[in-house]
Amino acid sequence: MITMQRGPQPADFADVRATNLAVVLRYVRGNAPCSRAEIAASTGLNKATVSSLVADLIERRLLRETGLTEHRIGRPATMLVLDGSPYAAIGIEVNADYLTAVAIDLAGQQVLSWRRSFAGLASSPAQAATAIAALGRRAVNRVLKEDRRVLGLTVGVPGLVSPDGVVIMAPNLGWRDVNLRDIVNRALGEPGFPVAVDNDANLAVLAESRYGAFAGSQNLIYLTGEVGIGAGIISDGHPLRGHRGFPGEIGHITIDPQGPPCACGRRGCLEAIAGITAIIARVLPEVAGDGDITDLQPEVDEVVRRARSSDPAALRALEDVGRALGQGVSILANLLDPEVVVLGGYFVPLAPWLLPPVEAELRARRIGPDSGGAQVVASILDHGAAATGGAATVLDHVDAGRLPRL
Ligand SMILES: [Zn+2]
Repeated sequence: MITMQRGPQPADFADVRATNLAVVLRYVRGNAPCSRAEIAASTGLNKATVSSLVADLIERRLLRETGLTEHRIGRPATMLVLDGSPYAAIGIEVNADYLTAVAIDLAGQQVLSWRRSFAGLASSPAQAATAIAALGRRAVNRVLKEDRRVLGLTVGVPGLVSPDGVVIMAPNLGWRDVNLRDIVNRALGEPGFPVAVDNDANLAVLAESRYGAFAGSQNLIYLTGEVGIGAGIISDGHPLRGHRGFPGEIGHITIDPQGPPCACGRRGCLEAIAGITAIIARVLPEVAGDGDITDLQPEVDEVVRRARSSDPAALRALEDVGRALGQGVSILANLLDPEVVVLGGYFVPLAPWLLPPVEAELRARRIGPDSGGAQVVASILDHGAAATGGAATVLDHVDAGRLPRL
């Protein structure tokens, strides 16, 4: 005999409760300040359940009560808002020339934002992991000192990263098969919060879709403008992850088969022409190759200064780079039909000179009227988008129901 009905098991209750806690939390995130009655009316949960869930979320210090609001009908209601203050999530971004750390509290307020120069290519993976962990430890200590609990730490790396945090390859760091998550986790002393590693562009596009000028866009592409160029893609409202988590490697499409060598071993890749070291080599040939790459901001400032003063060689180089970048953007636009392509990293200060040739290429190459409707803009997040995205993924897990333990 097959028993069709089985009483609900304790695990089922726990699952349903966690799901409902997350439903209430997300509703308050989107609609605060709001009352218990509004939550019940909008979510379909009954009032007693909502009261119990809200009590639980207040005890976990995820929600707090504010003053009373007089309703036109009925008794005054106590309003609820997110209480982000007791928790923070940390994101760390690894680049070939600098590290960034960002911490964000649960209500979306930035707690810290630091930038450190870093010689990525000159460091062994172990040395790099030590530097990353040292920055992570300092960020954790700062968060703890403010009486907040760390919910998790995510590291963004410019390379292919497996779901379990192994950097399969990062050409601009010279890494292959580096288990960065394990190394950082150990260096932090098995800290008791989740440590994750992901591709920098995949994280940066999440930050852009949460905090950028086109937040909420269902079809958004973010291009990292660092030594390498990667695309983070939101398609039809979902982050594009691909079969193995390696989509968006637009930096390695061939622009010129006879072009300069790329760190990946091929020639004429987009990033070998339009990556920031390639731009600096074109505009400032006198500084090219003088030692290890550490924080290219001073060189980028000099490129901007020469472009502003209408230096003909600088303007010609930026026009060529913009055209190459426009070819890459056109391929993405024809494949993915984005609403907007956001240029990030070092492309932001160079945007006044890069955007016109990028847009010209897009008009020439995009099938469909009006460049297919895609806009190209500079990010308002500037550097650190991947670090911000790393912190945001931790907060997304809370919204999805992985609540901090009491
Ligand atoms: Zn390449």
